[in-house]
Amino acid sequence: MDTIIFDVDDTLYDQAMSFKNTCKRMFQEPFTEEELNQFYIISRKYSDALFDKCEAGQMTVREMHIRRIKDACSEMGMTISEEKALEFQEAYVEEQQKITLFEEVEELLGSLREQGKQLAVLTNGSTGHQSMKIKQLNLAKWIPEENMFISESIGYAKPAPEAFHILENKLDLDKQKTVYVGDSFANDIVGAKQAGWNAIWMNHRRRKMPENSFRPDKEVHSAKELVEVFEKDVLVERKLN
Ligand SMILES: [Mg+2]
Repeated sequence: MDTIIFDVDDTLYDQAMSFKNTCKRMFQEPFTEEELNQFYIISRKYSDALFDKCEAGQMTVREMHIRRIKDACSEMGMTISEEKALEFQEAYVEEQQKITLFEEVEELLGSLREQGKQLAVLTNGSTGHQSMKIKQLNLAKWIPEENMFISESIGYAKPAPEAFHILENKLDLDKQKTVYVGDSFANDIVGAKQAGWNAIWMNHRRRKMPENSFRPDKEVHSAKELVEVFEKDVLVERKLN
């Protein structure tokens, strides 16, 4: 592979951690780790669905922020006021200012850069919020600023083919030698495969693969396994050379 393009949220860092920390701050309930995991998965479901509605102009970002935690709480058997939902969002943003890369991902970025690979990120979300996370993760250490693509800035969100086409043009990609790495099956895997790219599913939450859909070229269950895929890739390339 010549070009490796990464999703950001829950691919490069553990997004559940900031969510769980926010829950611990905002709710009196003493959640078990199991409940927090469940709460996180439920919250992502609403978050993704409402993000799409927001993209389609059917609701504002503020409404999305309120609804996604309200609906997740309701599925968990809790109620939350609009005011508290907004407080939750504020606390969540604060927690996201503390995120750090998965250790193995940090290693991987260093090694890929050393090998002279072209690196980029393609992430869904608002420019301000995603830029804050990119900065916090210090991604500019390995990835040039002009290779950071945020859906709000480019005008298209994954899985829309246009989002992937924009990168093809800007980065002069050879699709066959380009791989996209992401945790969301619906956005990252479907999006990348639809665009004709290679795709690695970073399925560290062990979600079930949807049937009758696209297939990732590789599925890994941890950052460690992800590193191993690229180590093997280097060995294959060395043999070929
Ligand atoms: Mg993600």
